[in-house]
Amino acid sequence: MIMIYQTNSPGETQKIAKELAQKYKDGGIFALSGPLGAGKTTFIQGFAQGLGITERLLSPTFVIMRQHEIPKNPEGKLYHIDLYRLDKITEIDSLGLSEIFSNPKNIIFIEWSEKMETLLPKQTIKIHLEITSEETRQILIED
Ligand code: ADP
Ligand code: MG
Repeated sequence: MIMIYQTNSPGETQKIAKELAQKYKDGGIFALSGPLGAGKTTFIQGFAQGLGITERLLSPTFVIMRQHEIPKNPEGKLYHIDLYRLDKITEIDSLGLSEIFSNPKNIIFIEWSEKMETLLPKQTIKIHLEITSEETRQILIED
């Protein structure tokens, strides 16, 4: 199913993410694409709030991957991956993604997923964000 939303504030973007979190609270792989400042990290913060994660999610730009416990899903973890700094696709090997993907209880977000398009599992949910003006974003969710 493809859904398209228009949002007028970061809070509205997070509200859409929180609603999606109710549908995928038991696991899912999410590929986020769109330019710098489109709201990828903002969206993931909203989703994490929807899962009851109170820890603040920072942009993992300098570490590529961060993981968070999910209070209501102890068998899974939330992985927040940001491929912005990734230069070579071979660097992906060092992240151990196949093991992370293999646990269906994990909730995995990949910012700049364009960089590993061909390596994404086929059940990956695609989320594309576009900047339509300073305060507005178009969000396309394909699940
Ligand atoms: P990305 O991770 O895609 O680079 P961020 O989520 O880090 O983007 O930043 C998005 C920026 O855009 C934030 O500064 C946020 O306040 C701003 N912004 C303005 N309007 C919106 C909106 N409608 N939705 C999401 N972010 C918005
Ligand atoms: Mg970001």
